[in-house]
Amino acid sequence: MNVYDSDRIIDVLKDDNFVETTSRPDDADIIIFNTCSVREKAQEKVFSDLGRVRHLKSLNPELIIGVGGCVASQEGPEIIRRAPYVDVVFGPQTLHRLPKLIYQNRLTGKSQIDISFPEIEKFDKLPMPTPEKCTAFVSVMEGCSKYCSFCVVPYTRGEEISRPFEEVLIELAGLSKQGVKEVTFLGQNVNAYNGLDQNKKLINFPRLLDFSASIPGIDRIRFTTSHPKEFGPELITAFEKIDKLVDHVHLPVQSGSDQILRLMKRGYSCDEYELIIKKLRKVRPNISIGSDFIVGFPGETDHDFQCTLALIEKVKFDTSFSFMYSPRPGTPASDLPNQIPVEVKKSRLQALQNALNRYRNEKSMAMLNTVEEVLVEGSSVKGNGEIFGRTSNNRVVNFSGPSSLIGTMEKVRITKILSNSLRATRLVKNAA
Ligand code: SAM
Repeated sequence: MNVYDSDRIIDVLKDDNFVETTSRPDDADIIIFNTCSVREKAQEKVFSDLGRVRHLKSLNPELIIGVGGCVASQEGPEIIRRAPYVDVVFGPQTLHRLPKLIYQNRLTGKSQIDISFPEIEKFDKLPMPTPEKCTAFVSVMEGCSKYCSFCVVPYTRGEEISRPFEEVLIELAGLSKQGVKEVTFLGQNVNAYNGLDQNKKLINFPRLLDFSASIPGIDRIRFTTSHPKEFGPELITAFEKIDKLVDHVHLPVQSGSDQILRLMKRGYSCDEYELIIKKLRKVRPNISIGSDFIVGFPGETDHDFQCTLALIEKVKFDTSFSFMYSPRPGTPASDLPNQIPVEVKKSRLQALQNALNRYRNEKSMAMLNTVEEVLVEGSSVKGNGEIFGRTSNNRVVNFSGPSSLIGTMEKVRITKILSNSLRATRLVKNAA
């Protein structure tokens, strides 16, 4: 979501100020930090990053320094108090107002703050994305109304709000025209999408997927992040019916203990979670399942943690993001008793990640010698003349081939399993 928002920040600035992007802060006239406040570390990093560019103001008095995203939303005027040289502070829902804020700052010489939540206005004001790759993110809903007890998102991004249905389809058609083959629908709880169509009828997420799949040129559809509470039978049927939906779903469970799930206010039990996975695997036997995990939530006992390890063994997750619980100001869990010592959190995280890696490696080994279809996304990051793409289940595959294949679907045979990627040989078309 933050990568998407950063791209939109560039779009609005390009649209208004004819800016060019640079990778060198010393060359920049505008430096924007797009921030995350989901965990404390990410939040503190903003202030040290700000400190690192402060001196550039004396070299270029015209330099604008801005802070956007969820830290801006949460801290607001506190950012200016701690770093008075910051010129603009804006939230995730006001990024489209950035040119106006910069203009006001230049006019008045005063720092500008706008961290309001104007409903959906952001999407009406954003220019059409101009993707440079064959893959693109499409934000379909924003915010969160789940109020999990650990999470700051509802307070920093506001309540769930869905984009109008036709607007999403128009964006998809525009992206397809520009050569995009794969889209990833984004939302804090993307499957809670419920957007109005032009007749004021609500269209839910499975129906949005259905319509999107009919857009010519869009060959693959991914989405992230989904919430188990919203993963109903219609969405499972979508995986049965819509071939363009990839063999991958990211469905954060957070914990394998019902007691902890209750304290987290997640709204489902482990059995309910497992049932979703069972149904998904029935219609898509090869689907790979990803999840987020939090260890060391207040009150988590050794037994609770063992339950999480047991769930990992049962589900055999393929991809995962795992975190030590980080108390966020203003969230109910930060006031719970029995906060877990950091040493315990660290050792649980290590044990959890060892277990997760084991199943990820098993899944990778099972892919050895199989034939996979990959969408070629670009030249290999190693710069060795190779190209890379992604499998339907979201594995990065590097292989030899001309760069003219970028943007095409290619069949490859997996020849080697590495820790973060796979190697393959291309099966040349018409050769079989
Ligand atoms: N909306 C999704 C859901 O609820 O399943 C996840 C979105 S959240 C921005 C991304 C992940 O950050 C969460 O799934 C959770 O694992 C992690 N996270 C959120 N708050 C956290 C906290 N206070 N401490 C540690 N991890 C946290």
